[in-house]
Amino acid sequence: MLKITALRALKDNYIWLLRNRGNRKVAIVDPGEAEPVEKALAADNLKLAAILITHHHYDHVDGIAALVANHDIPVYGPVNEPIPALTHPVKEGKRIRLDRIGAKFLVLDIPGHTAGHVGYYGHGLLLCGDTLFTAGCGKIFDGTAQQLFHSLQKIAALPDETLIYCAHEYTEENLIFASMVEPANSAIVQRLVKICQLRNKGATTIPSTLAEEKQTNPFLRCDIAEVIRATEQFADHPLNSPEEVFVTLRHWRDSPNKPIHC
Ligand SMILES: [Zn+2]
Repeated sequence: MLKITALRALKDNYIWLLRNRGNRKVAIVDPGEAEPVEKALAADNLKLAAILITHHHYDHVDGIAALVANHDIPVYGPVNEPIPALTHPVKEGKRIRLDRIGAKFLVLDIPGHTAGHVGYYGHGLLLCGDTLFTAGCGKIFDGTAQQLFHSLQKIAALPDETLIYCAHEYTEENLIFASMVEPANSAIVQRLVKICQLRNKGATTIPSTLAEEKQTNPFLRCDIAEVIRATEQFADHPLNSPEEVFVTLRHWRDSPNKPIHC
């Protein structure tokens, strides 16, 4: 069974370390820096066997150069983005087999945060970088809000029990925004209480399940009456489709009165 460990990196990034029981060879996802990876390898006498990259931002790729200098390993990443030391360009529908680790993933194109962003789906989990966050979603950089809407719809079609492994610890801040959008949603309140307890212990709040996201993440709830009503109130005009609600909600999340930590 594939086990996933969180390595903390930079300000609030996670580098996910993938390992099968009894196997010392591991893969990592989105190394924004090399040091936490080298420390984790040394601490457990592990061997790095592959790197998976979701998109080109520095906080996901800046550790690649130092790691490939020390380890002779393949680097998988999106075909349409500038990824350092990329050996295996991937896109939608590509099935990748990491035989040395004992893992297989299906590549999903999930653009919007960046134009070529990919995710890796397999073993009941989705490695989704900065596309879907726990209780939120990525900002728009070189993709479009419309692309991001359709990427989140694609993710929402995966099985409800899918574990969501995103790349940043933003859950608390995102839930505070979610509670502004839907003050009467008790699932959001309950999740916020649980998340604050985890944060107070210094624990990670990731992964969540897709089912939990569908109940509490406003960006996956753009067809829900309360989300539509609140977003129309922010926009001060009617919104005619879930996609319009999503684009406006993303704009609201970016506006100056965004929430603060509890
Ligand atoms: Zn990013």
